[in-house]
Amino acid sequence: MTPLEELRHSASHILATALLRLFPDAKLDIGPPTDTGFYYDVDLDHKLTAEDLVKIEAEMKKVAEENQPFLRKEVSREEAAEIIRSRGQERYKLGRLADIPEGEKISFYQNGEFMDLCAGTHVRYSSKVKAFKLLSIAGAYHRGSEKNKQLQRIYGTAFATKEELANYMEQVEQARHRDHRKLGKDLRLFVIDEDVGQGLILWTPNGSIIRQELQTFISEELRKQGYSQVFTPHIGKLELYKISGHFPYYKESQFTPVVENESLAKILREGCSCAEMVARLDAVSSHLAAQVNARTGIETITPDRVKPDDQLLDGFMLKPMNCPHHIKIFSSQPHSYRDLPVRLAEFGTVYRWEQSGELNGMTRVRGFTQDDAHLFCTEDQVAGELLGCLSLVKIVLTTLGMSDYRVRVGLRDPDSNKYTGAKENWDKAEAACREAAKTLGVAFTEEPGEAAFYGPKIDFVVKDVIGREWQLGTVQVDYNLPIRFDLTYSGADNQPHRPVMIHRAPFGSMERFCGVLIEHFGGDFPVWLSPEQVRLVPISEKTLDYGREVLSQLRAAGIRASIDEHNDKLGAKVRRAEIDKVPYTLVLGAKEAEARSVSVRSRAKGDEGVAPVDQFVAKVQEEVRLRSLSEKKRPA
Ligand SMILES: [Zn+2]
Ligand SMILES: [Zn+2]
Repeated sequence: MTPLEELRHSASHILATALLRLFPDAKLDIGPPTDTGFYYDVDLDHKLTAEDLVKIEAEMKKVAEENQPFLRKEVSREEAAEIIRSRGQERYKLGRLADIPEGEKISFYQNGEFMDLCAGTHVRYSSKVKAFKLLSIAGAYHRGSEKNKQLQRIYGTAFATKEELANYMEQVEQARHRDHRKLGKDLRLFVIDEDVGQGLILWTPNGSIIRQELQTFISEELRKQGYSQVFTPHIGKLELYKISGHFPYYKESQFTPVVENESLAKILREGCSCAEMVARLDAVSSHLAAQVNARTGIETITPDRVKPDDQLLDGFMLKPMNCPHHIKIFSSQPHSYRDLPVRLAEFGTVYRWEQSGELNGMTRVRGFTQDDAHLFCTEDQVAGELLGCLSLVKIVLTTLGMSDYRVRVGLRDPDSNKYTGAKENWDKAEAACREAAKTLGVAFTEEPGEAAFYGPKIDFVVKDVIGREWQLGTVQVDYNLPIRFDLTYSGADNQPHRPVMIHRAPFGSMERFCGVLIEHFGGDFPVWLSPEQVRLVPISEKTLDYGREVLSQLRAAGIRASIDEHNDKLGAKVRRAEIDKVPYTLVLGAKEAEARSVSVRSRAKGDEGVAPVDQFVAKVQEEVRLRSLSEKKRPA
């Protein structure tokens, strides 16, 4: 554990100590540190309330001030069970004890009257835990399974200093205001409807504008880099994914295949069982197995998966990835080395099965549109293409005011055999990723075990304005799929050669990226992304006609504007525009109508004075053209 994790984990022991003083019946499960704090899962008949948290926290302060040493005690398995029973904690702790592998040391840690089964480590004295806070209570299933009882999870956080804690609490408060689920609703950006399905985003008109502007922006940059735009369907034949290996490698994260109508009718006639049906969907023909195995040079498809042709079941998959479709576009024509690289881009929608408990607004969903592209290049071009991918990321993130980001290079886990492809190809691909990351001039870490099954990757983690980190998309090198699909190009020697593929979706998905942007901007989108750029507010009915005229003029100039024709007072209308986070509000009175001008209020700076309509139009158009970031809001 890092010193901070040690501190936080010790805080969770202190939490358990305090909790048992107040609720002696509580049955404890586990209390690990997290990235942002710690929690303890407890089973308690009494439903904990916010007031209880205040009391528990006060008791924790006492425990900390008692300056209890954390003492380690190693025991035998039998003694451990005895200690757990003597403390009435057998309900979960005996199971946790059974998790400890035979031969491993079993230890307890004691502070004051409390003793917990724990491997450690901890701070030396409870008084070291000075800056902590209990945050919330949530339901959490024992061992994360819905089949088990739901426990109460008490969340807290702890820091080395009071200042760090205060900063964190300020950040949490800001994050609450920026929550994309809340802002998404307030600003009418997207909805999730239970009848359509959890994790499936409905982009409403306002959110669609943001997405469309982003896609246009990214597409412009892609064209500059020589990409070609393609469109492909949302489904593909199961066999395609058996060749690619996406099925069954990622079976748990995919929707169950859709069985083809005729095949379904046939197996129903045969009275086939469900288990048999699943087995037939999984199976491959001996022809396909032989083909893939010959290409990869190893037994990629094992004999137990092969079934006679008349026992195979055809079906379709909701596209879990766009790669196989793009590969088929590439392989539909012969290629010479002179044509490479071929760069195929698509805002491609894919579907993944996520547990319902994992779904979260726009950032964890079941259907999403990747800013995807596949590059087919020669081995010599890999390093240069990786640089191109990274420079695109730089341009987009800088334009959005997210220049604070870091990069992770995901490498093989040397001890695992889940990776496909030859070792020397992996070595080359990993070296190319490392070299490309170096040239970015930002911090990067190497993470063994984080590679995809077909190749190493570069991940982007951006920091938003309030310092939170968000993982976006990836760039991945792939020596494997070109082999599985037997892709070739003819080289200068007129011989067939194998291209290398690069998969890249640097912003992840439009859903996730927009979710992150909503939080990053706190809903105050720059003018070019704002669903509504200008709100017209006539002072009274007398200037309504003038307002409608200005509205037509703005719309003709390509500016997204609307007019507030309600009968409210001026103040109420201006306030409404502020709540809707419209960048510019134009107030129109008799004087303005007379002079063909507008009185400009900006979201950032407040009153900006009167300007002729033409001049205002030119100013907004220029801001949009440059994709300027909005000026910082004045502190309220
Ligand atoms: Zn512990
Ligand atoms: Zn791909």
